[in-house]
Amino acid sequence: MHTSTDLRNLLARIDRRSYPAYKDTRGEYQFPGYVLSIDHVQGDPFAAPSQLSVRVGGGQAGFPPQLYRLPCQRVALQDELTRQFGRRAGQASFQVKGSGRSGLISISRCGQQVLERTACTLDPETGNVLVRFEVGFPANGRTIQAKGLERILFELLPRCVEDALLYRNLDPARLQAIADLAEDQHAIRQLLPQLGLCAFVADGSILPRASGVSDLPMQGAVAFRSPQELAVTLELPHRGAVTGMGLKQGITLIVGGGYHGKSTLLKALELGVYNHIAGDGREYVVTDDTAVKIRAEDGRSIRGDDISMFINHLPNGKDTRRFTTEDASGSTSQAANVVEAMEAGAALLLMDEDTSATNFMIRDELMQRVIHRDMEPITPLLERIGELYHRQGVSTIIVAGSSGAYFHAADCILQMDRYVPKDITAFAKQEAQAFPPVGGDLGPAPAPSFHRCPLPSPALKSGDRIKLKAMGRDGVSVNRENIDLRYVEQLSDEEQCAALGYCLLYAHQRLMDGRRTLRQVVDELDRLLEAKGLEGLCGGRAGVPFLARPRKQEIFACLNRYRGLKLS
Ligand code: ADP
Ligand code: MG
Repeated sequence: MHTSTDLRNLLARIDRRSYPAYKDTRGEYQFPGYVLSIDHVQGDPFAAPSQLSVRVGGGQAGFPPQLYRLPCQRVALQDELTRQFGRRAGQASFQVKGSGRSGLISISRCGQQVLERTACTLDPETGNVLVRFEVGFPANGRTIQAKGLERILFELLPRCVEDALLYRNLDPARLQAIADLAEDQHAIRQLLPQLGLCAFVADGSILPRASGVSDLPMQGAVAFRSPQELAVTLELPHRGAVTGMGLKQGITLIVGGGYHGKSTLLKALELGVYNHIAGDGREYVVTDDTAVKIRAEDGRSIRGDDISMFINHLPNGKDTRRFTTEDASGSTSQAANVVEAMEAGAALLLMDEDTSATNFMIRDELMQRVIHRDMEPITPLLERIGELYHRQGVSTIIVAGSSGAYFHAADCILQMDRYVPKDITAFAKQEAQAFPPVGGDLGPAPAPSFHRCPLPSPALKSGDRIKLKAMGRDGVSVNRENIDLRYVEQLSDEEQCAALGYCLLYAHQRLMDGRRTLRQVVDELDRLLEAKGLEGLCGGRAGVPFLARPRKQEIFACLNRYRGLKLS
């Protein structure tokens, strides 16, 4: 380990030399109160910025262990420190100017969800805090401007560390509130199954967002209010009694006129698999965290899925017990999405008619008379939804404003009425009696088999110079091949996409062997993330990139959408 004086001397030596001489700064330097590590140095001022990290010892950082006793509290604290550091870094950024990205100081930008990230980790054993960030090493043209980097590392950065990463300089009440909220959210998650619920939405929650491009809460929105029939009161460790709508496991239908807030409620439930920050409006909207949003996704590739519970006797004679296509239709893609969600362990499916294939959802009476069942490969979800719950234990929440077909199957029917939910189960069921369900009883389908054993792709297996690139929130590109994740709607952050790219590589290089099932591969990945954190994914690579942890369900989704997926 070098001293900070070594670094100062080194900087003086390389001043005004050509940019690559910056590479010599790689290494660790002891600063007063922390260790600065220069992990990766950019090749020129226009390239991706250099990767640095700061490690503050537990004693120096001083966070009381009660703030991070539970893993969810630790994640919430890390999230807060990332935000605090990001605020200070934003002020310090570009104070030093120059060519390209000279002077940039930046860290992950956190949204409304609280995610585990590589940007900040707090070691629960030692209390050490590690923060990773990027710096654009300053230059004039391609000439090193070492005085600029000296100002960043010896003046601007120490202030960021001081203000954002030391307990004594932060607001203790705010940090305690964050830890308490995380514990309350955790308590709700634990209570859901005990109460036979698959989701909870607290009264007073603000579900709609400010706009289509802003995830902030809408101002002046109608606050959520549970229908009396579904109201439950939960006793939380810090907030005490919280009342709200408890959605029971089973089949829930959300109906109501257009524009009355159906999709907004469903969207909030989709993201209820994550914890939200204070002030978001969805802090106490908690959904079974295995829930998967299901939608039609025509054009996706499918490898060997058993979709026979929904699709059979295709005109081209294709086997739907091991269904493969490069270009799925609306209905086959939605069927595959359901079966893959089950494979990924989902206990709750979320669907919105707005994004569903109509022929996957329903087939009306007249059509059943005109086109005989033998001529129709699709068994709509309507005829399977009951057994999904009763035989497989998979609940469903469906938004369906345009068809009453699901009234018979539903256990609970909610009407959104000017953004306020009403329980209309009894009334709708009574009306439905006049319209007996169409179609005879099919009998249950055999449960889909989950025995797909993936093989590593030669393209990913061998090379160590594989190019990984997240394409915003839309997907990830591996060696220029795009994995489209636009319709994996519960991905909430581009750093999750980046992490999925690493998961894919890790799985192909170390886990897939033609014997492990896809489930076993993903379980192994999840165990790795649990034991070693996201850093465990990028062993060997210089500098850990900004990654955020995806759920197991999204890891499945990514592996399934890789067009190079091969099965043994
Ligand atoms: P639906 O799916 O029933 O057609 P949406 O959920 O898309 O309706 O909502 C329609 C509009 O109403 C959206 O612009 C949404 O932002 C707004 N909205 C939803 N919930 C609320 C609410 N609680 N208060 C105010 N506006 C809302
Ligand atoms: Mg809608």
